[in-house]
Amino acid sequence: MSISQLARSIRESATLKLNETAALLRDKGEPVIHLGGGEPKSKAPIDAIIQMNSLANTGEIRYTPPDGIPALKKAVIRYTEEHYNKTVHVDNVVVSGGAKQAVMCFLHTVLDPKDEVIVPAPYWVSYPEMVKLAGGVPVIVKPEDGTFQPTVREIAAACGPYTKAVLVNSPNNPSGVMFPKDFVGEIVEFCEKKGLYLLMDDIYNRLTFDGKSAPICYDFTDLDVENSKIVVIQGVSKMYAMTGFRIGWAIGSSTLIETMSTIQSQQTSGPAAPSQFAAVGALNGVQSSITNLRLTLENNRNVMIDRLQAFDGVKVVKPDGTFYCFPDFSAYEKNSQKLADFLLEKVRVVTVPGKEFGFEGHLRLSYCGTIKDVTEGLERIKWALDPNSPNELYLGERKLVRDWL
Ligand code: PMP
Repeated sequence: MSISQLARSIRESATLKLNETAALLRDKGEPVIHLGGGEPKSKAPIDAIIQMNSLANTGEIRYTPPDGIPALKKAVIRYTEEHYNKTVHVDNVVVSGGAKQAVMCFLHTVLDPKDEVIVPAPYWVSYPEMVKLAGGVPVIVKPEDGTFQPTVREIAAACGPYTKAVLVNSPNNPSGVMFPKDFVGEIVEFCEKKGLYLLMDDIYNRLTFDGKSAPICYDFTDLDVENSKIVVIQGVSKMYAMTGFRIGWAIGSSTLIETMSTIQSQQTSGPAAPSQFAAVGALNGVQSSITNLRLTLENNRNVMIDRLQAFDGVKVVKPDGTFYCFPDFSAYEKNSQKLADFLLEKVRVVTVPGKEFGFEGHLRLSYCGTIKDVTEGLERIKWALDPNSPNELYLGERKLVRDWL
């Protein structure tokens, strides 16, 4: 069979693959704990369900404008005014099939073959593959000081004549770190000076902890959206626990958004109508589910960090947001894929190898599940790795004996 060179160069999503593996093991009755997940377990807001049903009940579910129904664009405009203190118009908004499609349409819109995109590490697993899919070249910038956030000086050093855009994701998947105001201000200024697009992937920016809130990129520019090369990516997946609805959006200048919409119209004709109705419900409805989710995640984070800090040899940075943390396990095993495979095989805990995010020796652990998943998952990991743990562990009825330390 003939498969294109481009297709052959694209790796499958490590995190989606892990979901499949976990589901297969669970189907076989294995007591899997999934600390690799990327979605909250709470229910979608009731207002989302009511709105979606209101459309479904008509039985008339049709094509929509490819860039989103007017009611959803209106809700996004209001959301942007409320949470970004920025005035945007209908032609500054495109609604996509998840934040992922919004990022993909952006890349297709701005990249010529071999153009470069700066991707700070650690990065969301999909960014490098998405840049390649759009014909571009991802340029990974890894912080030299061992933190999870490159400096603007490091980013500037990686920029060359082919650089088109910088991708910033804060709070960050996988580290949970929120980039400070100083960084956001400097990167906005740097991109403006260089004429580069700055893609701010803000998908986690409502899920922050310890009373902190995420710095807003628009606070650091005098330009209005129409004249700016900042592109904000948002969506309902994480903040409203609506991953399956596949609704995200991008905010940018009307010229950029128009082209993104044209590309999207030729790709998918726009997101599914029931999902768009649901997103209108979520955005315009009662907002308490975000606060509830944030508090649950903060509590889970506290428990996870507590347990990890009690782990000799594991170094962990306390996340400011998201539902991930990214501890360094290299004292136990430097090869993160080997370590993740080992934990799945021996104690049935799913983790994501750090190498998928550009950082060897680390594992991404999610705390978006139940508190029981967090405590039991970490107990199993500790048992598997720590020679000072008791020799035996029970997984349900099954007694495990550690014979590898
Ligand atoms: N950006 C980041 C940083 C993410 O972690 C994810 C989901 N894992 C997305 C975008 C995609 O979100 P969506 O489900 O809305 O496509």
